[in-house]
Amino acid sequence: MPKDIIQSPILKTANLKKHFVEGKGIITGGRTIYAVDGISFELARGETVGVVGESGCGKSTLAKTILKLTEPTAGRIIFKGEDITNLSSREMRPIRKDMQIIFQDPRSSLNPRMRVGDIIGEPLQVHKIGQKGEREEMVASLLKKVGLKPEQMMHYPHEFSGGERQRVAIARAIALNPAMIIGDEPVSALDVSIQAQILNLLMDLQEEYGLSYLIISHDLRVVKHICNRIIVLYLGRIVEMADTKTLYDSPSHPYTEALLSAIPSTDPFSGSKKIILKGDLPSPANPPKGCHFHTRCPYKIDICEEVYPELKEIEGNRKVACHLR
Ligand code: SF4
Repeated sequence: MPKDIIQSPILKTANLKKHFVEGKGIITGGRTIYAVDGISFELARGETVGVVGESGCGKSTLAKTILKLTEPTAGRIIFKGEDITNLSSREMRPIRKDMQIIFQDPRSSLNPRMRVGDIIGEPLQVHKIGQKGEREEMVASLLKKVGLKPEQMMHYPHEFSGGERQRVAIARAIALNPAMIIGDEPVSALDVSIQAQILNLLMDLQEEYGLSYLIISHDLRVVKHICNRIIVLYLGRIVEMADTKTLYDSPSHPYTEALLSAIPSTDPFSGSKKIILKGDLPSPANPPKGCHFHTRCPYKIDICEEVYPELKEIEGNRKVACHLR
């Protein structure tokens, strides 16, 4: 677990929204998808925050909106004290150096026709850092930092294993010495044994460079060991936010409780009861009235069908959106 957290946010979002209009016709107005629907949180310098939830809950859209790979519909994004919400892509260019992303599948994020040395060196070239020879040395050093050999810079992505390809993607992400990295399911495509190696590498790099991480994952086991705090999303909204130990030891929101209970226990005598969620995640185009979770919640009461529960602080460092809390 990273130790050196500086309590000034590197990133802050305020009521951030990303709505898409799907199937807009001339006569019919199309339908609105509320992918991200009012997210406010802070990421401190040196901190790792996990964002969890089922597929379709808005995690990846949140990542893309923060990075302004897609324009926000409403709300604010403050990065390193600067409001970047309305910056143009040209104005974003120098800021992009400081915010990088690692995707789930390095096979599709690494250009198969480029040598790994060029893939890692490309951002250095784009931002005009160093001369050609110097850049080669920087690439060699980056390869060593992520546990690969400098001579592998001549190889192509297909010559690497899945875990090694993700190491290449990480080397490219840290090439410009960023302040923040967003990992969008960074280990989901890897074998469990390799996942731990990549997570350990991310933690080592965090210590060395003082990085801040936002780790998006559908798998609560992945985020448990590397995150200081966890945000649980349901249909584009935060339903619970707490420090990792508090959240895992005593989940407060029924959805968090269900997600945690779905993790297979390694202890056959643990006796923990499984909460099976009824039905699928409702469509973000048509979220249920009231608490969006009421259609699946085992503890639903009358008010839940009518009134959305505000996200409120229930104890130090824990916020929950549930009428029962
Ligand atoms: Fe369940 Fe009601 Fe709480 Fe929503 S507000 S999680 S439906 S108890």
